[in-house]
Amino acid sequence: MSKPNTAVVILLGPPGAGKGTQARMLEEGHGLVQLSTGDLLRGAVAKGTAAGLAAKAVMEAGGLVSDEIVLAVLKERMADPDLGQGVVLDGFPRNIAQAEALDALLAGMGQRVTAVVSLEVDDAAMVDRVAGRYTCAACGEGYHDHFKQPAVAGTCDKCGGTEFKRRSDDKAETVRARLDAYHAQTAPLIAYYEARGVLDRVDAMGSIEEIRTALARVLGSVAA
Ligand code: AMP
Repeated sequence: MSKPNTAVVILLGPPGAGKGTQARMLEEGHGLVQLSTGDLLRGAVAKGTAAGLAAKAVMEAGGLVSDEIVLAVLKERMADPDLGQGVVLDGFPRNIAQAEALDALLAGMGQRVTAVVSLEVDDAAMVDRVAGRYTCAACGEGYHDHFKQPAVAGTCDKCGGTEFKRRSDDKAETVRARLDAYHAQTAPLIAYYEARGVLDRVDAMGSIEEIRTALARVLGSVAA
C-alpha cells in the first residue's frame, strides 16, 4: 500500500456483529480491499506455514493469536501494491498493542487511520448468529441457517457453487470464548479511537441491508 491518502477503515465488533459481511460489501460498493486477519490466519493454517501451525490451536480455542504472528501476516499483505482506494480492516486490531503497532506501520507509510466504526450488538444474540453461519466454498459468500439461505437450496446465489463450509471455531462454546476475548481485549479499542476523534457507532442488530445503509451514511465520502 504505497499511495498516500488512501482510506484505512476499521470495523470493530464482537464475533457475529457482521464485520466480514459489511467489509465485503464495502469492497464491492466502495472500492476498498477487505483485510481480514482471521482469513489470513486461516489461509496460513490451511497452507501449514510456521505461522499457521503456531496459530491453529489458539484459534480453535477461541483465544487471540500472538501479536507477533498477526502483525507478520498483516504486514505481508499490506505490502501488496494492489490495495485499491484503501483498506477495510476486519478483525484487526484486536487489542491496544495491535492498534499502536498499526499506527506506527501507517505512519511509516505516510498514512493514518481514517475511520473506525463500532458495530454495536446485543451479546446474547451473537452465539445464535455465529453458530448458524456458513459460506460458499468457492466464492466465500456468507449464508445463515435462519437469516439468509440461498434462493435455490444448496446453490450459491452469487457463483452457483454447490459446496458450503462452516468454520470450526463457530461452535457455541468457542463463540463464548471469542466473545470473552472481545470484551477483555478488543472492546477497550472503542475508547482508544474515540479519544482520537475517528470513532462512529452503528446499531448492528438490524438486517444486513439496514446495517449497510447505516455504515454508508457514517462513512460518507471516506469510502465513496
Ligand atoms: P475472525 O475471523 O476475525 O473471527 O478471527 C478468527 C480467529 O483468528 C480469532 O478467534 C483469533 O483466534 C484469530 N485472530 C484473528 N485476527 C486476530 C488478531 N487481530 N489478533 C489475534 N488473533 C486474531
